[in-house]
Amino acid sequence: MKLHTLVLGDLSTNCYILADEKTCEAMVVDAPAQAETILDFLKEQNYTLKEIVLTHGHFDHILALEKLQQATGAPIAIHQNGETFLKDSLYNLCHYVGIRWTPVQPHRLLQDGDTVSVGDFTFQVLHTPGHTSDCICLFGEGILISGDTLFSQSVGRVDHPTGSLPQEIQSIQEKLMVLPDKTPVYPGHGPATTIGAEREWNPYLQ
Ligand SMILES: [Zn+2]
Ligand SMILES: [Zn+2]
Repeated sequence: MKLHTLVLGDLSTNCYILADEKTCEAMVVDAPAQAETILDFLKEQNYTLKEIVLTHGHFDHILALEKLQQATGAPIAIHQNGETFLKDSLYNLCHYVGIRWTPVQPHRLLQDGDTVSVGDFTFQVLHTPGHTSDCICLFGEGILISGDTLFSQSVGRVDHPTGSLPQEIQSIQEKLMVLPDKTPVYPGHGPATTIGAEREWNPYLQ
C-alpha cells in the first residue's frame, strides 16, 4: 500500500490517498477542499478511486465531497453518527463559517469494529468520540489515521456540537494508546507522529 498526503483548504487539512500499487485502486480519507486537485492527483497516478472514507463530518474535511463523489462515483463512508453532520450545517460548522452546504447522503454508515478495504489493504474502524460524536480513526497496514482525535502533541478541540474532552481522552487512552509505540500516526492536521511519541510528549495524555 502506498500513502500520499495532500494538504488542502484554509485549515490545511490532510487528505490521505491510500493506494494498492498493483491494481491502482485507491481510497481517499477525507475530502477537505479543492476537489480538482484531488482528481488531478488521482489521474496523474493513474488511480481509480473506490471509496471515500471520512474521519468525521466537519466542514474542513468534507467541502470537496460532492464534487469528488460525482466525478468518480466512489461511495462515501462515515460513522453512523456522521449522517447528521453531512446534513446539518450547524453540526458540520458551515453555518458558522458562512459556507452554503448542500446535504450529502452517505452510502455506508460505519460502526466501531467495521473494516474498510480497497485492493489489497484493509483498515479497522475505531470509533473515537470526543472531538465530535462521529469521529473515527483507521488502523491497518501498521499505521493509524487519527483524524482530528489525536495530533502531534495535541488533541482535537471540543468546543463544537457533540464535543467532550473527557470522552476524547478516554477514546485516545482506550482505543489508540493500546497500539504499538512504533505505530506511525497520520492526523487530520499537521505532521505525522507515532503512538510512542504521543504517549511520552502529548500534554493531554500526561
Ligand atoms: Zn474537526
Ligand atoms: Zn479538521
